Amino acid sequence: MARSVIKLGSAIVAGEDGTLRQDVLAQVCSAVAERHAAGDELVMVTSGAIAAGVSALALAGRPESVDELQAASAVGQGRLYPVYDELLRARGVTAAQVLLTFFDLSARTNYLNARQTLGKLLEWKVVPVINENDTTATDEISFGDNDFLAAQVAILVGAQRLVLLTNTEGLYSSDPGRVADAQLIPEVVDFAALEQFEITQSTSAHGSGGMRSKVTAADMATAAGIETTICSGAREGVLARVLAGEHEGTRFAPRETRYSSFKLWLKYAKPSRGEIVVDAGAARALREEGTSLLPVGIVEVSGGFEAGDAVDIADAAGALGKGISSYSAVELQRVKGLKSQAVRELVPRAAEEAVHRDYLVLD
Ligand code: GLU
Repeated sequence: MARSVIKLGSAIVAGEDGTLRQDVLAQVCSAVAERHAAGDELVMVTSGAIAAGVSALALAGRPESVDELQAASAVGQGRLYPVYDELLRARGVTAAQVLLTFFDLSARTNYLNARQTLGKLLEWKVVPVINENDTTATDEISFGDNDFLAAQVAILVGAQRLVLLTNTEGLYSSDPGRVADAQLIPEVVDFAALEQFEITQSTSAHGSGGMRSKVTAADMATAAGIETTICSGAREGVLARVLAGEHEGTRFAPRETRYSSFKLWLKYAKPSRGEIVVDAGAARALREEGTSLLPVGIVEVSGGFEAGDAVDIADAAGALGKGISSYSAVELQRVKGLKSQAVRELVPRAAEEAVHRDYLVLD
């Protein structure tokens, strides 16, 4: 039994004028229903609310201002979800509408609640159809077209596979809209190798992420051990083949490093509120011995974080990771560089560790 997250970008959900592409959605829902009947667990993440809103309101094009995008999305979501609901129901599958934001996922309790709800829906054999809650959040409107949300959801539900359906065949060596001999890249194992290619943010009339945000989403998901595919959502049978384990479009190999669910949340969902710079000895101990970070190893503190907030951790050479600070920024300014005994005198009830190893994730 496989658990997969399938994301549909605006460009395949809606046409240039914003009307929903019923044929494409029907084909995708058929593939989903087929795998569902075979016992797979599937979660869909869909864009296209703004596009559908533009069409419903007969606007001249995608609005520029954020408030108009949010309002258009509110109109469009009401038209978008019922299409999925009906297409899936006609194929014997019950769907659920779920609206999420990164902000929802950044608090651990909300993250666990979302995970619990999605887990229950999957247990009930329901297919969640997720979009960003554009009324309150603008992350994916500004940049992303739900690519990051889909990666987050894949991590949240512990999926084995993430499929990003778009209007190209996959990732190309250059923008295929501009460069005639752009080559499709079939497999990505090492993200560093992608630096030689031109990966742009250029998008369709209704999208907001382009290939750049898809590659970043793939980076995030594969780091969590989730195989990711970018492929065409419009071409007949593509999704069915990917879900059956066949190669289509561009496949990003899952990476070995597997973090616990908590550390994945810390790394990708919890926003950082500041930075701690450590000395060379502390950096070595964190990297090589897997220790906690003590105040004595800290040389610089920036930001206005409180105890319990996430902070980036770096040394003079650059980023090391991210962790949850046991101290506020103000406290750490006072105790940085001090040995534990001196720290206790200044902040009597404080933990010995500035960042405990259990609340620390290295890059
Ligand atoms: N949540 C947005 C939508 O469904 C994301 C896509 C976009 O930025 O256009 O329309």
